[in-house]
Amino acid sequence: MKKLNNICIWKDTEECNDCSINGRLICHFRRKYLFSFLGFFLIFVITAFIGVIQAGFGWFLFGWVGFWLFFFEFWEIRILCSHCPYYGEDGKTLHCIANYGSLKPRKYHPEPMKISEKIQLMIGFIILMGYPLIFLILGGQFIFLIISIIEIFIFFSFLIIKRCGDCLNFSCPFNRVKKEVVDSFLKKNPVMRKAWEEAGYKINE
Ligand code: SF4
Ligand code: SF4
Repeated sequence: MKKLNNICIWKDTEECNDCSINGRLICHFRRKYLFSFLGFFLIFVITAFIGVIQAGFGWFLFGWVGFWLFFFEFWEIRILCSHCPYYGEDGKTLHCIANYGSLKPRKYHPEPMKISEKIQLMIGFIILMGYPLIFLILGGQFIFLIISIIEIFIFFSFLIIKRCGDCLNFSCPFNRVKKEVVDSFLKKNPVMRKAWEEAGYKINE
């Protein structure tokens, strides 16, 4: 049993049987969630790789891959993931539905994301998605550009429609979980509740 931070998602699932919000959140890791996330992202990545190479800027893809490492392993993991209940698991690596396997270089932050972190997240996403598009434009690869933009649109639509309404990282700017569900989750998780209330969040009793 993994109990660091006493978060219910890392306790025995028997406790979920009596939970009023059971089934309303993605409380536990499932391979299908991870593979669907990676699948939609990889389709865009493959298209962008081919297009950038066709454009004659293949060497610049090393810069993109380098940014992934920086973003997923250092930047995003601090500003977004360190606030997520998935991050509150005991151990050195993340076992979640998107950044599975990433190292956890920072401690868990049970409080909600700050405004400055939300802004940074948006900037990070723009760089992450926009980097190859610049080279597709410079190289005149407009078919690849249009396909890539459509794939980005599909990727974020998939996340917003299929994941963000059930995601445990409630303070993420994309999160759409209803307040009543957030409140129920916080009531079950005292460490997180205390941090949220100290940050000014009000729970409806
Ligand atoms: S909120 Fe906690 S107790 Fe309820 S179903 Fe999810 S993991 Fe189980
Ligand atoms: S579910 Fe999302 S926010 Fe939570 S740890 Fe994984 S990638 Fe980060």
